[in-house]
Amino acid sequence: MSYGAGIWGMVEHKKLNSVQNRACKLFLGLKRNSPNLAARGDMGWTSCLTKQRVEVLRLFCRLKCLSNDRLPVMISNWSSRRSKSWEKSVEAMIRNLNVSHICNVDNISKSHMNPLKRHLFQIDESKWFQDLWNDDKNPNGNKLRTYRLFKKDLKPEPYALSHFLPRHLRKATALLRSGSSDLIMIEKLRYSHPPTPLNCRTCPFCLEIETETHFLVECDMYSDIHFELFQEMHKTDNNFYNLSPKEKIIMILSSDLVNPKTISSYIYEMFSRRNYYMSYNYRT
Ligand SMILES: [Zn+2]
Repeated sequence: MSYGAGIWGMVEHKKLNSVQNRACKLFLGLKRNSPNLAARGDMGWTSCLTKQRVEVLRLFCRLKCLSNDRLPVMISNWSSRRSKSWEKSVEAMIRNLNVSHICNVDNISKSHMNPLKRHLFQIDESKWFQDLWNDDKNPNGNKLRTYRLFKKDLKPEPYALSHFLPRHLRKATALLRSGSSDLIMIEKLRYSHPPTPLNCRTCPFCLEIETETHFLVECDMYSDIHFELFQEMHKTDNNFYNLSPKEKIIMILSSDLVNPKTISSYIYEMFSRRNYYMSYNYRT
């Protein structure tokens, strides 16, 4: 997607973001309306704009390092005389990036590329983190309410990339983490007509508000599965049973000490049981 981005990559292209988001969601098994930030966060991918800007800087560096008798440099010098040239746009971009502590437009060289890349990735990660906590567009409650409890950086998640989980396990975990599972009432009743107030989105089995936390660590409907899951977690932390429900879900979904396949299998088992009882109730 970023072919030739050195030339055209200074500005954001929404269609490229859409393609990248769809690729993340397809791989994780998320739905169209799942949050893009969670999909990208679990894959640990930087934004398209950041990748494009790295390509722009790389091309700019390459041109700066060539001798003046080389054809690309001659074309570049000719083009830079125009009022709106690629070179002027790149120089403006470098100034806006505030990288004066690394280099400036006159002394930029190949040795600056790695620090520049790191700087761009840091900017990208902090922008992603700010968006994660931005509720301006969701005054009535964000889907990411659970996700942001445990996801603090833009690193790829082991369940998604480093352990080759079967698709159904990856999907169950991704949906629960991103707060976009239709099987959890707090999400499902979000789209009802008329809208269901938050305190009425109750669990079909125990009348508590059904959040991801309630589902994963509290509801008695899955107490036997919780028991096994908690035992696994207890092996890594002796204090696990004393934690609050919120602390438990944070630990379960962010622990890198327990094999992600084990945790995903328990999550899948809970969803399967819920599905079974819900469809049974519906039939009767
Ligand atoms: Zn319940």
